[in-house]
Formats: sequence, structure tokens, C-alpha cells
Amino acid sequence: MMTAKEYVESLRRLKTRVYLFGEKIDNWVDHPMIRPSINCVAMTYALAQDPRYEDLMTAVSNLTGHRINRFTHLHQSTEDLVKKVRMQRLLGQKTASCFQRCVGMDAFNAVFSTTYEVDERHGTRYHNNLVDFLIMIQERDLTVDGAMTDPKGDRSLPPHKQDDPDLFVHVVERRPDGIVVCGAKCHQTGSVNSHWHLFMPTMAMGENDRDWAISFACPADAEGLYMIYGRQSCDTRKLEDGCIDTGNTKFGGQEALVVLDHVFIPSEYIFLNGEYEFAGMLVERFAGYHRQSYGGCKVGVGDVVIGAAALAAEYNGVEKASHIKDKLVEMTHLNETLYSCGIACSCEGCPTKAGNYQIDLLLANVCKQNVTRFPYEIVRLAEDIAGGLMVTMPGEKDFSSDTVVGSGGETIGEICGKYFAGRPGVSARDRQKLMRFLENVCLGSAAVGYRTESLHGAGSPQAQRVVIARQGDMRGKKELAKRIAGIGN
Ligand code: SF4
Ligand code: FE
Repeated sequence: MMTAKEYVESLRRLKTRVYLFGEKIDNWVDHPMIRPSINCVAMTYALAQDPRYEDLMTAVSNLTGHRINRFTHLHQSTEDLVKKVRMQRLLGQKTASCFQRCVGMDAFNAVFSTTYEVDERHGTRYHNNLVDFLIMIQERDLTVDGAMTDPKGDRSLPPHKQDDPDLFVHVVERRPDGIVVCGAKCHQTGSVNSHWHLFMPTMAMGENDRDWAISFACPADAEGLYMIYGRQSCDTRKLEDGCIDTGNTKFGGQEALVVLDHVFIPSEYIFLNGEYEFAGMLVERFAGYHRQSYGGCKVGVGDVVIGAAALAAEYNGVEKASHIKDKLVEMTHLNETLYSCGIACSCEGCPTKAGNYQIDLLLANVCKQNVTRFPYEIVRLAEDIAGGLMVTMPGEKDFSSDTVVGSGGETIGEICGKYFAGRPGVSARDRQKLMRFLENVCLGSAAVGYRTESLHGAGSPQAQRVVIARQGDMRGKKELAKRIAGIGN
């Protein structure tokens, strides 16, 4: 397995093409707006080296028998599924951000089981391709971006009816040794920080969408592939001197637009190529795994938010107020409810035909549906406890300024220190750090990961409601009612 340092160095060796603010960024690894997101992924490598976390962070590969990072593992049991969620909670606690590496893990678990069933029906050899690909990923301990979301253009039209065929990733040329693809994937988490991308269709498809019903892997620096970096709220604070105003200097999330401009994909990296009737299965399985994931990662970030709110109360001297205690209980209740859903859909998992384990689809969708709501309430309560200071406090440069403003010769820094100190023993600087952290996670760049991603990541709320409606067994429930009520006897 790679160390965190080796992971960062491995990114430098790639010829990944990244554009930010309209320009190509050559040394993107050290770019102050990008580096925090790399540090987050690096944490998935660092913790795997820590003996305290070996059981959570590593697993034994069913493909090679070697010990591997759990982020490259095919889940072999419900215990593996539970450990995955616990690992994600741990990483959320350590970074208070999105650590990005889960999408690849969720993608190849879904592609593994789906390709098995495609091959069974069509006599193709996609499953072998995926196994060979995955052994390479496991042995080299690489990070994979799971790429699903197409731009989609006019949402009322299927891929083949769009004015611009590139609005869904598709095949533009078939060659004896592979395919050439065009299109793009939107808001791709961790895509710049990945070694490989694993592309999947974004929705169920019909017969006329064959050219769009494709799944394949390609290296992050493949010829014709480039990425345009997505902005986050308050992201340019990372370009300022100092480290307090960012709120979380070290860690952050990342999304980018991944563009495929006539990229050649050799046959051995193709996992679906026109078998349109399996597109829906692949989407549903990937989405299910990623909706389970949110019952871990968002809970870990929630732990940090709750801790920060409790500290803010202490710094203000109000921690004994009954309404504050009650708000912290409510936040904990909401957070642990999300965790319960993540654990429940894992415990109720079952083996696929291919042998890896899949979560309970209904419970995973209920998990994610709750995630679309509860972090918002947790953030509301955190803001309530923190007070307005989290959005009105002067900046780091004011706190360290030695410009004289007071009649007694006090500097701006001293005045800030005097008026923003909390209860005795709590420095204004510590309070400033805490307020900026809460600002970051509730409203700033980390809010992408904790709030808006909670809503739209792994599918927007309505996508879960569609699955809940399908999986909810309404007919069975009606039968239960009829039987007890004696209807139809
Ligand atoms: Fe992982 Fe959560 Fe980020 Fe998805 S949102 S990649 S599950 S940390
Ligand atoms: Fe996500």
C-alpha cells in the first residue's frame, strides 16, 4: 500500500490536464485551492498505515489474497459493508470534508456485479476485464474516480434525442481494438486527484441509446481527457496569506467537469458497450452503494460540527443553559439516526450473483433521503448556538495588525483581542478559529460537502423517492392491512 506521501508524489508523475480560472494549471498538486482536497484523499492512505485503524482501513483482497486499502476492496460480507461505513465516519471526523475516494470504491463494486450478469446474458467478457483492472488498482493502491453524472441537456429527452449527442458520454467510433468516446461528466468528486476514472451510464437507457450505454476505465491523463475545476463558496480565501480565515486550512473537497474529447479506450478497459438493458441496473447499484456511504461520511463531519457547536457554547459561557444542551442532544440524535441508516442498510445486505455484497437498496435510499434533510437542521442548530459572530468577525489580518487605532496606542489586533475574547481563559484567537471553522462547514467551501452535496450528491432527493416507491412493497403492505381488518374473507 502507498503512504500518503507516495500518493501525493504519484500525482506529480501524471500528466493530468487541469484548468482553473480559465487557465491551465501545471503544478496543480501544490495549488493552494486544490491542495486541501489532495490532503483529504491522502488521509485515506495515511490512516491505512496506522496500526490502530488496520481493521477498518484495510482488508484482504478476494482477488489476490493480499492486504489492500479498503477503498479498493470488493465487499465480501455484511461485516465488510459495516466496516466501510465506520471507515467513512472515521475519515469524516479526521477531515471535516469530503475525502473523495469512495466514489471509485462504490463504482467498481457496482460494475463488478453488473458485468457478471451482462456476461451471463451476452457471452461478453466484461467481468474479466473489470477483475484485471481491479487487481491492478489494488496492487498499486490507486485512487479511482467513479464517473456517472452526465450534463443531460434537455432532461425531458433521452440521450439519442438530444440536439448535442455529447451531452451524454457516448461512442463515436468503434475499432477492432477498442472504442473512441466523447462527452463529459459533471461535478466529479475527486476527479483531479484520481489516477483513473471509471465511467458509467447515468440512467436507464433504451434500444436507441446503445451508443450511450457504455462503461469503461481510462487513466486520468489519457490523451483527449481534461478537467475544468469547480468553484466552491469562499474558495479564494485559500489564496490569502494566513490560515485562520479559511476555517479548515488543511482539508477540503473537490469537484470538476471531466471532458472526454475523442478518447480512445482499449477493449480490455470496456465493461459495457451497447447492452442498454443493464444501464439501469448499474446506476441503481452504484447509487445504492453511494447512498449507503453518506450514512458514514456525513456523520463523521457531523461529529465535528456538533463538537464545534459545543465548544462555541463553552467559549461563550452558556454550556449549562438547558436550551443549549437540548440543541446538542437534538443534533446528536439527528446525526446518529443517519449512522443507524448507514449501518442498517449494510447489515441487511446480501450477496450478488458475482459474489460481492450489496447493501439493502430500500434502506440505503432511506439513509440518503434523511441525509438530504438532517445536516441542514444540524447546521441550523450549530449556527444558532454559535451566534452571528461566525459571519461578522473581522479577519485574520485585523487580529494580527499592529496599526495603532486606540487613543491609548492600542493596535487593531489588540482591540480585536479585547472585544472578541470569550469567557475568562478563552482567547479571541481560539474563538476566531472556531467561528471560522463553523462558517466554513456551514456556509463556506466545506458546505459543498456537508450541505449541498448532502442534498444532491449520490442523487437528488427525488431520485431516492423513486426507489423508495419501487422498493416499498405497497401491495404487500395493503395485504397486511386487509388480512388484519378481515377484508376479502
Ligand atoms: Fe465519500 Fe462522502 Fe465524499 Fe461521497 S460525499 S466521496 S461518500 S466522502
Ligand atoms: Fe458524493
